[in-house]
Amino acid sequence: MNDCIFCKIVNGEVPSYKVYEDEYTCAFFDITPITEYHTLVIPKKHYVNMFDIPEDELLSLTKAMKKVVSLYEEKLGLKNVQLLNNSGKYAQQDVFHIHFHVVPRFPKDGKDMKLLRNPALRDRFDKLLSTLAD
Ligand code: AMP
Ligand code: ZN
Repeated sequence: MNDCIFCKIVNGEVPSYKVYEDEYTCAFFDITPITEYHTLVIPKKHYVNMFDIPEDELLSLTKAMKKVVSLYEEKLGLKNVQLLNNSGKYAQQDVFHIHFHVVPRFPKDGKDMKLLRNPALRDRFDKLLSTLAD
């Protein structure tokens, strides 16, 4: 994908602050971080999002996330982290090369993400489940 910013990071056309790399993945600081060490973990191959990435590639990505979290645990004493993936335009995906956000969290960092929950949907659980039946 020659117009993909993350492919350009993978092939070195665009600079990045890389914290981890292996055969299949790399991880680098997010350019507009939420907190210190906010990192994006991506596959080196271009996949759009969770819908098209094959399971084995996702497994490599998960392993890379664990490496990054372990690195921050070891070097920074990190004990709190949020892992986030946005897949699809209406799920707030902005860069269409799959990535997981690794967002380290620190005491009183003021970065709590507020999820707008809808408990009234409980009334529809039976119907929602029936849609999934054969
Ligand atoms: P999302 O909204 O989940 O698609 O997140 C895309 C993320 O990519 C945003 O947090 C951006 O700050 C980040 N981003 C965009 N361009 C770059 C870049 N050149 N280097 C690092 N991070 C980037
Ligand atoms: Zn790409």
